[in-house]
Amino acid sequence: MPELWRGYVGQSFAGTLLLRFKQAIAHNNDVDSRIDDRAEDREPKFFVRQMLLDFDSKDVKEAYKLKASEVPFGFEFIQHVTFRDINFGEIDKGDDVYSVAGEKKPRSGFKLCRHCGQVQRTKRNEWERQYDQLHAKDCKQYGNDDPANIVECLYLYREFASEALRILMPYTSAGVEETSVVSFMAALRLGVQERFGGDVSHVGSIAQKEKSPGDGPPLRCLIRLRSWRHWVSS
Ligand SMILES: [Zn+2]
Repeated sequence: MPELWRGYVGQSFAGTLLLRFKQAIAHNNDVDSRIDDRAEDREPKFFVRQMLLDFDSKDVKEAYKLKASEVPFGFEFIQHVTFRDINFGEIDKGDDVYSVAGEKKPRSGFKLCRHCGQVQRTKRNEWERQYDQLHAKDCKQYGNDDPANIVECLYLYREFASEALRILMPYTSAGVEETSVVSFMAALRLGVQERFGGDVSHVGSIAQKEKSPGDGPPLRCLIRLRSWRHWVSS
C-alpha cells in the first residue's frame, strides 16, 4: 500500500470506510452488567489514534521563511484547517500495518454490523456464542450469520476546523529529533504566555510529519491552533 499523506477525502481512506463518531450506545443487559463483573470488560483498551489535517493552499494567507538557505525555517498562517482525529482500531489487533503521514502502525479498524452497529467483540457468554455474529436484540439480522451483514474494517473520526499557524521545524539531513520537537513546543507555549499574558491553554500544538519534497526524511511541522479547549472537551 502506498504511503498516505494528505489528500484523503471525507468518506474513504485507503479504500476504507470512515465514519464520523457522534454517539456510542451500550447494549449490555442491565442484570448481566451487575452480576457478571469479570475482568474481561474492564481491561483497558488502547487504540491507534492519529490527528491529521487538511487544508487548501488558497487558505494560506501569510507565509515567511528565513533567507539563509542553510537554516531551513519558516511559518505560515492558514485561515481554515480541518482537523480529523482518526481512531484506527485497537493497537493489539495489529495485522493490517501500513504508514499514514510517516507513522507506520497497525490499522485494523472496527468490525461491526452494518445494520445495528454492534461491534464484533470477543463473546462473553454461552448465549452470545450460539451465533458467529453479534447483533443488537432488535437488529433485523439478529440470529443471521450472513457475512454480508458485517463491515470488516471501519475507522472512526472526530472533526473540527480552526485557523492555524504551521511552523517548519529546523532540520538536518538526519531529520529532527523528537526531543527537539517537544522542547520547541514547550518554548513556544512559554513565549506566547510571556508575550500575551494570561491563560494560553486554549491554544494547542500538534507535531506533524510532512512528506519531504525530495527523498529526504519527513519534514517535521508544528501546528498551533485555536479552539483547543473546545476540541479536548467535545
Ligand atoms: Zn446487527
